Amino acid sequence: MSDCIFCAIAAGDVPSARVYEDERIVAFLDIHPLRPGHTLVVPRQHAPRLSDCEPETAAALMRATRRVTAAIHDAMDTQDATIAINDGPSAGQEVPHVHVHVVPRQQGDGGGPVHALFPDRPPQAQADIQGLAASVRSRLEAAA
Ligand code: 5GP
Ligand code: ZN
Repeated sequence: MSDCIFCAIAAGDVPSARVYEDERIVAFLDIHPLRPGHTLVVPRQHAPRLSDCEPETAAALMRATRRVTAAIHDAMDTQDATIAINDGPSAGQEVPHVHVHVVPRQQGDGGGPVHALFPDRPPQAQADIQGLAASVRSRLEAAA
């Protein structure tokens, strides 16, 4: 997409601190890191959300994320990371080109788990949870 910053970075038209690239994927350091080593893993092909990606691209994204995360840990002397996608604007996505955040984590770094996104979690009835599971499952079975 012509006005997409991550398409421009993937094409090499905008500079970045690139750490990895292959046929389908590029990875580079975030310009405003949450923690040192905060890296973005990005498909070359423009797609807003994970579910808009071709299956092979989504698989390549996870393969690259795994490799990049291991290299970050080696370079940063860390073992743990928060690995996350803000998958759409309601989830806080600001750049509408799917990307995986890899944020190295250490004890006492001041961050929290993904669960800290929602400190108040109203209880849900087991029947509702089971009903939703059946609804999703039937869609996946129909698509298989
Ligand atoms: P989102 O909220 O879309 O999940 O995250 C977008 C991320 O992209 C943010 O962490 C932001 O700092 C990063 N970002 C935005 N523009 C640029 C850029 O031009 N270069 C780099 N390296 N990172 C960027
Ligand atoms: Zn794009």
